[in-house]
Amino acid sequence: MSVDLGMPSTRGHRLWPDDVLDVDGLRATGWRPRPIRQYILKINSRCNLACDYCYVYGMADQSWRDQPVRMAAAVVGAASRRIAEHARRHRLSAVQVVLHGGEPLLAGPEPVREIVSTVRSTVGAQTAVHFGLQTNGVLLDGPFLAVLAELDVAVAVSIDGGPAANDSHRRYANGKGSYAQVARALHLLRHDYRQLYSGLLCTIDIANDPIATYEALLEFAPPSVDFLLPHANWGTPPARRGAAGGTEYADWLSTIFDRWYASGGRETRVRYFEEIMATMFGAPSRTEMIGLSPVALVVVETDGTLQQVDTLKSTAQGAARTGLNVFDDSMDDVLGHPSIAARQLGHAGLSGTCQSCAVHRICGGGYYPHRYDPGNGFLNPSVYCADLKKLITHIRDTVARDLDTPPPGAAR
Ligand code: SF4
Repeated sequence: MSVDLGMPSTRGHRLWPDDVLDVDGLRATGWRPRPIRQYILKINSRCNLACDYCYVYGMADQSWRDQPVRMAAAVVGAASRRIAEHARRHRLSAVQVVLHGGEPLLAGPEPVREIVSTVRSTVGAQTAVHFGLQTNGVLLDGPFLAVLAELDVAVAVSIDGGPAANDSHRRYANGKGSYAQVARALHLLRHDYRQLYSGLLCTIDIANDPIATYEALLEFAPPSVDFLLPHANWGTPPARRGAAGGTEYADWLSTIFDRWYASGGRETRVRYFEEIMATMFGAPSRTEMIGLSPVALVVVETDGTLQQVDTLKSTAQGAARTGLNVFDDSMDDVLGHPSIAARQLGHAGLSGTCQSCAVHRICGGGYYPHRYDPGNGFLNPSVYCADLKKLITHIRDTVARDLDTPPPGAAR
């Protein structure tokens, strides 16, 4: 599909896509958005940690200050009806709902039970609702896990490696590290509630040894590990960077990839690597970090406002806003927003540089918030472009070598 995006000048004042992309014009060409299948419910807007890289509290957007602490029952009810309405209209057999924050466990087990029950009963039996919860793990104890098990809520925990690596960033407001509490929670999750354990999220700090970080995560026997690049963009470049054009992040991830790949992927699943390999062979990507698959998610804030992915809060004040809310607007209205549509355009939604890049089908232009430039918005390559190109090329070359003479056990 060829789409006229009305591209802004490289340093124009109009920001792409919000000031430029004409969604009605796109529809007139026959383009149709994909329905929303993932809902991030911000059930609690505050956190019991004060991680130094947090995009919710510590970066450009400070809108959390205006949000109610908890999601009220009226918001849960309205959000549930909107999810149900959208699922019916688009005949969705399944949707995913992620309980998020702030720290969602601060809501308490009974409110979590109430929220899960309300969504499930409102959506009804014709659409399966798969629940997940993203937590810092500090409050994840036996009684809470028992409730989550009853409700069949999968749990992912954020942890950045061993005690020193984790506690250099993931600390309480008083400066005390969170590792000991998180390790205790992971012990329980791993041994007593394995069926709920979806994996670990690790934000990369290239000051830490990559293999030591990976091995510290493996100690918790995670079913999967997600490595996240620290949020950065062309206005706020990555904090840890060597010489201009350096590729320290690619080198860090490649070191772990080599170890993981040599194990035949048996140690754990690493979604970032698996998705790069899958898209290399033409499969659609299943994460918004990689590839050109349309992104179909929306965030519901505690006050019921509907927002784009909240990592956009790392770019500018109000960057995640849509101006819509669950009381007045449907999920189909969300699909009409330029910023939501922009992430469903595939190749047509990339910058000219990315469109002509040899690895763009795998890279997908990089994670959307990392493309932001205060001068023109999001029609740019990722601020991690050099890293992405190097990592993808490294993975492609490694796999290509194996395809000539596949070593036993390496093929998956
Ligand atoms: S490697 Fe760089 S130029 Fe290529 S698609 Fe990714 S961000 Fe764009």
